[in-house]
Parts: sequence; structure tokens; C-alpha cells
Amino acid sequence: MESRPVALVTGGAGGIGEACARRLAETHRVVVCDLDAGGTQRVAEAIDGVGITCDVTSEKDVRACIDRIDAEVGSLRAMVNCAGIIQERAFPPETFDQDHWDQVQSVNTRGTWLFCRFAGAKMAALGGGSIVTISSVAGHRSWPTHSYAASKAAVLSLTRGLAAEWGRSGVRVNSISPGFTLTPRLKELIKVRDWDTSTIENQTALGRWVEPEEIAEAAAFLVSDSSRGITGIDIPVDAGWLCGINWLSFGGVPEGR
Ligand code: NAD
Repeated sequence: MESRPVALVTGGAGGIGEACARRLAETHRVVVCDLDAGGTQRVAEAIDGVGITCDVTSEKDVRACIDRIDAEVGSLRAMVNCAGIIQERAFPPETFDQDHWDQVQSVNTRGTWLFCRFAGAKMAALGGGSIVTISSVAGHRSWPTHSYAASKAAVLSLTRGLAAEWGRSGVRVNSISPGFTLTPRLKELIKVRDWDTSTIENQTALGRWVEPEEIAEAAAFLVSDSSRGITGIDIPVDAGWLCGINWLSFGGVPEGR
């Protein structure tokens, strides 16, 4: 058994999840869990952690993952719930493919719920822990990818509800809302689509995208004792997208002076 506290990162095989797994490994024994078996092993080996292949939409898989951590790794004290899928294109409701709607809800909402449910119950029984869910700026605003935005608003709601549910049991539950984040996957998409991203940069107060490592820093803070008085909140890590967006009605965010 390991003496460092145990942290679980779902979706840890790539993108924001991988950045969180690498950052949390500085203070925790990290379990990386993802559907991508190869990526899970790659990241787990790189951080001297444990890899578990798991589909977050499967109740059976999630239960087995939490039980295995308990039996083979140690007491789970932190979880960062990064597994998620984006709805890559906006579809109008009239032509929205219902299976696609369900798939996005299943991974983002059901998957977050299942892991919170089983990990939170375990932490509450142990007397404490910290859960970080990953929402999105999309969950805060009107957004053309309807299923994605609804799933991320649901994550904000779940976070507040579970924070109240388990607060007296010492379990804190908070969310992070990333803005447009330059993961390897999005970098590739920008290249393949020859995507002019200047509109996004112009909408943010800081005039840029977010780096995955910046989300990981917020996650490290939320699982650490430094945030012990904080529960039920959302931290946008968005380079000031939420505060900059309305300025477009007034000619945009001012240039640096
Ligand atoms: P990503 O695609 O790079 O990584 C997501 C990971 O989740 C992948 O490793 C994937 O294999 C895993 N995953 C997908 N479905 C799964 C399943 N059913 N079971 C287990 N694992 C599964 O994406 P990312 O950009 O790093 O996104 C991570 C989280 O951050 C997501 O919840 C996403 O919605 C959110 N987010 C991302 C951005 C952004 O700009 N990148 C912005 C806001 C929010």
C-alpha cells in the first residue's frame, strides 16, 4: 500500500486529464482511468501511477474501478473528473441526431454522475476527500452545440448538489470551467480545419487560449488543503472569456496599454 494520498483522474489518457494526472502526481499516487487503454498505460507509466481502463458510462466499470482502487491502491482522497467528449459541430434542433445527443449526455453527464456517486460515497465513508468536476464556459452561456452545453450545465448543478450532500461528511465538491483550451486534440483540429481562431482570442480578456497545465493548477489547488474552506463553487479557467465576451457589444476588449 502507498503512503501518499490516492487521487483518481478520469479521462487521464490525454488533454486536460493528462495534464491533471501529471500535476497531481507531484503530491499524490495517481490512478489514471480512461477508455483509451494505450493512453492510460502511457500516462500511468510516465507518472509512476496506476492505469485502469474504464468506460465512464458503464456503472459496472465505474464500480469495479473504485473497488479496485480501494483493494489494490489505497484510500481514495481526491478525484478529478476529466473524461468528456465535445460535440464537434453545431447542429440545429431540427436535424440533431438523437443518438449523438444521447452519447454526449451519457459521457459528460452520466459519466460524471457515476464517478461522483461511487467515489463520493467512498470518500464520505472514509471521512473526507475532494472531488473536482470539469464543466465548461459552455455550461454558463447560450451555446450552439446544444447537447454539450446542456451536459456542462448539468455538471455545474450536480457539483452544487453533491457539495451540500456530502459537506458534513468532509467531502468537498467543486468544478472548473475551462475556456477554449489548447489540448493536442484541439491543436490538431485547428490545423486540419485551417481554423482562424482570432475571434476566440479577441473575446478573452487575456487575448489567448488556455493551456491544459493551467486547468491542472486549479485542480491541484482544489484537491489540496489550501482550498479546505471551499466547496460547491465553480472556478472558470478561461483566460477571461466569460468576462470579455459581452464587450463585443461595445467594440471589444481594449488593447493593452
Ligand atoms: P480530450 O478528448 O483531449 O480528452 C478526453 C479524454 O476522455 C480522452 O482521453 C478520452 O479517451 C476520454 N474519454 C472519452 N470518453 C470516455 C469514456 N466513455 N470513458 C472513459 N474515458 C473517456 O478532451 P479535453 O479537451 O482534454 O477535455 C477534457 C474535459 O474538459 C472534457 O470534459 C471537456 O468537455 C472539458 N473541456 C474542454 C475544453 C477544451 O477547450 N479542450 C473546454 C471546456 C471544457
